[in-house]
Amino acid sequence: MKLRLYNTLSRRIEDFVPMDPARITMYVCGPTVYNYIHVGNARPAVVFGLLARLLRRNCGTLVYARNITDVDDKINAAARDAGVPIATITTRYAQAYHDDLARLGVDAPDLVPHATAHIAEIIAMCETLIASGHAYAAESHVLFNVDSFAGYGKLSGRSTEDMIAGARVEVAPYKKNPADFVLWKPSTDDLPGWASPWGRGRPGWHIECSAMAAAHLGETIDIHAGGNDLMFPHHENEVAQSTCAHGGKIFARYWLHNGMLTFGGRKMSKSLGNVMVLHELLEKYPAEVLRLLLLRAHYRQPLDWSDSTLAQARSTLDGWYGVLRDRADVEVAAAEETVPEAFEAALCDDINTPAAFAILAGLADAARQASNAADRHRSKAALLGAAHLVGLLHENAETWFKQTESGAAIDAAWVQGLLDARQAARAARDFARADQIRKELAEHNVVIEDSAEGVRWKVASTSESSS
Ligand SMILES: [Zn+2]
Repeated sequence: MKLRLYNTLSRRIEDFVPMDPARITMYVCGPTVYNYIHVGNARPAVVFGLLARLLRRNCGTLVYARNITDVDDKINAAARDAGVPIATITTRYAQAYHDDLARLGVDAPDLVPHATAHIAEIIAMCETLIASGHAYAAESHVLFNVDSFAGYGKLSGRSTEDMIAGARVEVAPYKKNPADFVLWKPSTDDLPGWASPWGRGRPGWHIECSAMAAAHLGETIDIHAGGNDLMFPHHENEVAQSTCAHGGKIFARYWLHNGMLTFGGRKMSKSLGNVMVLHELLEKYPAEVLRLLLLRAHYRQPLDWSDSTLAQARSTLDGWYGVLRDRADVEVAAAEETVPEAFEAALCDDINTPAAFAILAGLADAARQASNAADRHRSKAALLGAAHLVGLLHENAETWFKQTESGAAIDAAWVQGLLDARQAARAARDFARADQIRKELAEHNVVIEDSAEGVRWKVASTSESSS
């Protein structure tokens, strides 16, 4: 199936044509590991992880790298505050990043390069850039000479004047042009550092990604992706460094950027106190609720995170799991699952998840309404195939309804004991006692449903129990 992607470089949707289908290359900027990530940083991992699946299914063999930035001033500060070596901080939070994403159903990338393991490549790239006049050393720093690269600003669509006016450009006396950016900087004895031709120091952030992408994926890569907030200066600088270090070769053929998360319509930021930490959200909500919410909006659009969008995601999943529970008697082996063409076509159309989820809702309706055995099997196989492609409906349907809002399991034996007592009371026509048991369960958010198939129960969501 043909894959189409919006390319930030051309600002239009293009057919994706890999350089070599036997080795498609994709690089996604990973986190700086000094703390748990906020949920906005999970969006590129989830969205581009889904893209990796689509590439493998439709385009060829993929080599997907997502880096870890493990040397940075924020890490230094966190290590100093905790009184531990930086490796203690970076190891802890890199592991937490991988564990939390795994809970979100994100497949591990093929390669996870760490910046500190590529210092030699970074120094070599600085030397190449200096030798070709694209960089210069000044006061133990190495700086990229922005005036040496005519294409600077093309990716983000900014003029040099805009960039200098931006608060993120640091003015320093040793810079030839205020827009010149740091490739290497000196380290004092109390900071992590490596020997270099310019003295003991450490890399700037941007050069790390250029060096790691070249080391693992080659000088020209097919896809480079990350959040909108990285477009400038990070990605703009990566383009400049890599293009100039590789004799003008195009760095990345397709640039993809995801939109930012807002919280109740406002930007998430530490100063507003509305930063949602993924690790904490995973303690409060089932992982699939978070995953659905992260995928539900189109990836290029802003995504609003709120109690009500979380409740909507939960209620959508309740509906789909309800169909699976009603069709529990229809056995579908993993090999029998099918992915409907229209569903995958929507995803291959610039990862159009809103269209794909509309189709998924239709598949759930079809499975709910199927009236004969063949239709029931076919429709459940399609529902599961589509949902599994986007990393949803992996839970057992019975278990899904017997978890609390936070995804913790409720004591099923205790519930069953009360249900049995209620049945016995009803059989003895002691309706007052039966009603009392129903109320006791309701106090624990357990809702009883008397159906043709017998008595069922589930844990109500907060929105249900409060309404
Ligand atoms: Zn990067």
